Amino acid sequence: MPIDHRQTKRRFLGVQFVDCQVYGRLYLNAEGTVYTGRCPRCGATVRARVGDEGTKCRFFLAACRR
Ligand SMILES: [Zn+2]
Repeated sequence: MPIDHRQTKRRFLGVQFVDCQVYGRLYLNAEGTVYTGRCPRCGATVRARVGDEGTKCRFFLAACRR
């Protein structure tokens, strides 16, 4: 698959999955209301609502396992 390094309309947050200690991204959904992504190691789905305190930062910590 080609990799496009240009800026696109699709925004994302950098996220650290703290339980697996891996880095990933949460992508803004089509409605522009929620960032969603999956931990690349354990596959857990993580969501961050736009406007929540945590999403004001470009870097986000997520607990992906319980
Ligand atoms: Zn994980």
